[in-house]
Amino acid sequence: MIDRLKLLYELQVLDEQLDELEELRGDLPNAVAALEEQVNDLKEDIKKKDEERGESLEKRVENEEEIEKLRANQKKFKAQLYQVRNNKEYDALTKEIDHNELRVSKLEAENDSLSDLSTALADDIETTKPKLEELKEELKLKEADLKEIVKANEKEEAKFLANRKELQANVKKPDYSAYMRIRKAKKGIAVSTIKRAACSGCHNIVPPQRQLEIRRNNKLFYCEYCGRILVSAEIAEYVE
Ligand SMILES: [Zn+2]
Repeated sequence: MIDRLKLLYELQVLDEQLDELEELRGDLPNAVAALEEQVNDLKEDIKKKDEERGESLEKRVENEEEIEKLRANQKKFKAQLYQVRNNKEYDALTKEIDHNELRVSKLEAENDSLSDLSTALADDIETTKPKLEELKEELKLKEADLKEIVKANEKEEAKFLANRKELQANVKKPDYSAYMRIRKAKKGIAVSTIKRAACSGCHNIVPPQRQLEIRRNNKLFYCEYCGRILVSAEIAEYVE
């Protein structure tokens, strides 16, 4: 039993060392992730607008071709006007000519708005590009900072992690899940000890009878106030 308690306390000490290393990185990992997201969003935005611009250009070319065809037809129809033999033919032909004229104006209007759209998109892209470059530069700097910090502690962290793995393999599964659950709920500290008759985690007094029981190191106790695993001062001294 005493080994079981020691293992849990050892795990606590090791995790605190790992947490300290992580704290050195501060907000950098989050900042890098946020910048990466912003950079990707802007890239996506530019790509979409570029595609939209390409499509509008294609549509304009298509419309131009259609307009040309319609104009050629108009010429033909107008020439035919001189050869009509009766009013019925004349009416049919002028109707056709009017219809073509309308179609041409519609296509020309569409091309005007497509051209406006294309200009607006190009403007948008041009304003976004410097923003993107700025963010990319910021991301590069933050990534370099983070890399430096990670590199400085790389060996130490690897050693801690290897120790932790070994330790975890020796901790009983239910103990480990309890440990992890409390660690998560209690800001990283799952195991506390008795200091000046109180729980080192929450500073609430531990009743003398309970202190005696804990000192026997033969049972797993939890602090009745904060729920942390409570081990004797002897265990803590032994591990540290
Ligand atoms: Zn407590």
